[in-house]
Amino acid sequence: MSKFSSFNFSGKKALIRVDFNVPLDAEYKITDDTRIRSSIPTIKKILKDGGSAILMSHLGRPKGGPEEKYSLKHLLPHLQELLNENPDNPQQARLNILFANDCIGEQAEQKSKNLQPGEVLLLENLRFYKEEEKGDTGFAEKLSRLGDIWVNDAFGTAHRAHASTAVIAQFFPVENRMFGLLMESEIISADKILNNSSKPFVAIIGGAKVSDKILILENLLERATDIIIGGGMAYTFMKAEGGQIGNSLFEADKVGTALNLLKNAEARGVNIHLPADSLIADKFSADAETSAAPSNLIPDDWMGLDIGPNACEQFCNVIMHSKTILWNGPMGVFEMHNFQHGTKCIAKAVADATQKGAYSLVGGGDSVAAVHQFGYADKVSYVSTGGGALLEWERARAGATACTGSCRHRGFVETKAFAQRRHNSAVHPLHSGRSCTNTRASAI
Ligand code: AMP
Repeated sequence: MSKFSSFNFSGKKALIRVDFNVPLDAEYKITDDTRIRSSIPTIKKILKDGGSAILMSHLGRPKGGPEEKYSLKHLLPHLQELLNENPDNPQQARLNILFANDCIGEQAEQKSKNLQPGEVLLLENLRFYKEEEKGDTGFAEKLSRLGDIWVNDAFGTAHRAHASTAVIAQFFPVENRMFGLLMESEIISADKILNNSSKPFVAIIGGAKVSDKILILENLLERATDIIIGGGMAYTFMKAEGGQIGNSLFEADKVGTALNLLKNAEARGVNIHLPADSLIADKFSADAETSAAPSNLIPDDWMGLDIGPNACEQFCNVIMHSKTILWNGPMGVFEMHNFQHGTKCIAKAVADATQKGAYSLVGGGDSVAAVHQFGYADKVSYVSTGGGALLEWERARAGATACTGSCRHRGFVETKAFAQRRHNSAVHPLHSGRSCTNTRASAI
């Protein structure tokens, strides 16, 4: 049994770093509650034990001070609803969630002090303080005053050495800091993909930019047998190889990176699959004129906004022959109806391959949105809540290990690169949260 599952929270105040960074519409209604939903089992286990929960999270990108649109109070009604969903015991008294309109300071401390077993306190947005992202030690210490136990259940931000995700660890003894249930399952599935994968292993990488995905691409060269590159980022590769890409997305400063990656892939025997053809459009619009063209022969003034029919077949064929599948990033501008076919056909192929016995993990905001939108979320092996964390898994693991000191007990295998970074860091990451920052700094 894991450290979290076997821990008895009775009478304890658990300070939980959750990732409630959910999308909100103009009326502050949550449009996708996956991240909140995913943390509910962790919170419920603590309450069931007779403990209380203090929840801390960031939301959006505030500029360093309070902003109404990023207030976590907008999440209260829905969080309350989710925590009160109780199919086992519908008679149970309704749980009220308290709110502190500052994540540190007298009010938060008082509310936390008065918190009774079975109660929940939600703190205001951590990023209303710029100290959070800076990993400020003083800020982390103030947060740490709010709980007896620190539980890290925010996989989506676990790769960042922020005050609440890493630096705070040093203020809790090792026995009082741990992963929550969501972190545990995310780590197990990411590890299954990146360190214990059955071959052939295909990584499907899409989305807008090469620059956003270069880390995972480089990381995957060591692990995957096949890498499918789709979406806007494919055109930088096409152009690097001398193709004509018209007005398609292009990062001129990443041509060298793309060429290097192709060269390294060849040297390692990793097959890179670029889309044979594209669905091209005369403007970036849902009512654009469209046509199909080879991805390296796109006329001037036209742009590739989705993979074409031949590329769908080409990619699906690779996916159907794979035993491990990682998918991050859409194949086209799937938000527009006329450019979603490619992403949809990949989603279906991933689901079909999973049914045939492959292990599939979908991670990263937009591909997760796509599998939900097209109805395949329950037909893949695992849908991850953390895009960035999954992409930067090596670093995520460095941070997570340092934060909780529990990875090793769970039998994770260190890569050489990670071991080297750990060796380089000033303090052993398993013994101090402070070393998180060092580990990360040395990793970048
Ligand atoms: P990312 O967050 O990097 O995974 O990128 C997701 C975004 O990439 C989505 O909003 C897509 O609309 C966009 N995208 C995918 N393919 C293309 C393309 N061919 N041209 C422009 N944008 C694209």
